[in-house]
Amino acid sequence: MLAFVDISSLKEAQGDLEKAHGELEDKVKVRTTTLEEANEEMAILNIKLIKKDREREQAQQALKESEERFRSIFENKHVVMLLIHPASGKIWDANPAAVAYYGYSSATLKTMNITDINTLTANEVRAEMRMAEKQDRNHFNFRHRLANNVVRDVEVFSGPVVVNKQQLLYSIVHDITARKETESTLHLYERIISSTPDFISLVDKDYTYRMVNDAYLLFFGKKRGDIVDKSVPDLVGQEYFEAKSKPNLDRALAGETVKVETTLPNTDKIDVHMSVTYHPVKGDDGAIDYVAVDARDVTELKEKEEALKEFSDRLELATDAGKIGTWEMDVASGTFIWDHMMMELYRLTPAEFSATYEGWRSRVHPDDIVGVEQALEDAMTQNKPFESEFRIVWPDGAIRHIKAAALIDFSKGKAVRMTGVNWDVTKKRLLEENLRNLATTDPLTGASNRRHFMTRGAEEFTRSKRYGTPTTMITLDIDHFKKINDTYGHPVGDEVLKALVAICKDTVRTTDIFARMGGEEFTAILPETDLEDGIKTAERLRVAVEESRVAVDDGTIQYTVSLGVSQLHNDDVSMEDLMRRADSALYLAKDSGRNRVESK
Ligand code: GH3
Ligand code: MG
Ligand code: MG
Repeated sequence: MLAFVDISSLKEAQGDLEKAHGELEDKVKVRTTTLEEANEEMAILNIKLIKKDREREQAQQALKESEERFRSIFENKHVVMLLIHPASGKIWDANPAAVAYYGYSSATLKTMNITDINTLTANEVRAEMRMAEKQDRNHFNFRHRLANNVVRDVEVFSGPVVVNKQQLLYSIVHDITARKETESTLHLYERIISSTPDFISLVDKDYTYRMVNDAYLLFFGKKRGDIVDKSVPDLVGQEYFEAKSKPNLDRALAGETVKVETTLPNTDKIDVHMSVTYHPVKGDDGAIDYVAVDARDVTELKEKEEALKEFSDRLELATDAGKIGTWEMDVASGTFIWDHMMMELYRLTPAEFSATYEGWRSRVHPDDIVGVEQALEDAMTQNKPFESEFRIVWPDGAIRHIKAAALIDFSKGKAVRMTGVNWDVTKKRLLEENLRNLATTDPLTGASNRRHFMTRGAEEFTRSKRYGTPTTMITLDIDHFKKINDTYGHPVGDEVLKALVAICKDTVRTTDIFARMGGEEFTAILPETDLEDGIKTAERLRVAVEESRVAVDDGTIQYTVSLGVSQLHNDDVSMEDLMRRADSALYLAKDSGRNRVESK
């Protein structure tokens, strides 16, 4: 069965339905896409969350590690560290090295403020800490006082740090006292080198100047740039360098300290004498890298030295010509240094002289040792020049007169060295003795002369008066002496005079004064002798002469003497009074027939 239905409206409805379906489908499609997108976003978010978590964990781990690291650094035994509260300056913590360094216990340090340690004022310290906190500067130079009150130079590195969520300042403290001292010593050396009048330069292995001091520049009239980094031959000339500089530099570079005296390279300063020392200078590795050359102008010294040498040469000539021996004695050891002239003066050879005090002393005349040793002792204890005269005995027994003088070197009040001279004064002494004898004795007979008699007589007169002791005088005259002269000649008369003097000297005492008063007249003064004893002596004399004989060519001759004796009276005012009386007694003896003794 077929039925016909108007389907046009159906078709329309169907189209609508299809359209709606399509729209719905589109919508579902859109929704699905959005959902997918949302899902995706969720996943990303999730990943991000996980990542964040991990990051936080890592950060926490890092912080933990960093704190641990800091702790371990802080606990370091060698580096001094402090943790300081930036606002108050209170010491928050101090490491074991700080405890050891400052000398306070850890507990004490933690009660202290950094201003207790730093020598700056509290305000100054605060300003410095602010700088460290803001990291404007992290390096500071301070002076820190230790527990024992010693103040040290320190270098401090400081900056902010967070410990246990606390904002703190860390300070790493380095003691630089030794370094500072070294620096100041170095500075001092620099100043010495630059201010010394010596010319100092530092030359390297390539003969290039590395350093010169101010004196060097001044001397050569150069600027530092003209010399430093230039080679030595450039300054001193190739010829001079090859001849005088290079050999010495090479020796120093080989390790030797070379000292030379030289003249200068400059022709206009030809007379300048330099004493130059080349010192090898080692580098850190111990190898010789440089030579320090120290040159000193010794012209003046040289001139003085030459003058001194000339003087000493002249002195040697003079001492030789004057036969002056020079000697030196080391007081402590008693050893001598004698020059050749000393040996000659003592007639000794070096083999015969022990060069000791004893060796010298054994040559001194025994009677003079006390005197010369006293003079030595006085000189050494009273710090005065030594001067003495003594006799020495030559090996052959001859006696010489020596004059000695010396100067003494003292150290800490003690005589350490004597430097002196000896010279022979024997000739002078003998001459003096002769002169003295000439002045007092009669050259023909050797008896005292009238002048000497008068002096001694006056002395005896005073002495006798003072002590009230008796004194007696004998005057004597040869009988008919003219006849002896006339018969035998004048020389025989002289022999008679000598023979008479010999007899008189035998008869009178050594304390008696006996003199030839002139011609053939003699006088004797007998101290401590009264008239009676005086007469006895005179009589003995008379007999002795009478019994004596004088030998002449053809036999012997006999002669006699007349004698007058008198004793000093209380009222005598001088020796002349006594002489007058004795003379008058002598005349009496002559008048009474000669060959006799008379007294008054
Ligand atoms: P008198 O008995 O009276 O004394 O007689 P005299 O002949 O001795 O007389 P006097 O005393 O007057 O004579 C001294 C003589 O002594 C004179 C002089 O020639 C001599 N005469 C003096 N000095 C020396 C001398 O040094 N040598 C010698 N040989 N004769 C001398
Ligand atoms: Mg006479
Ligand atoms: Mg006579």
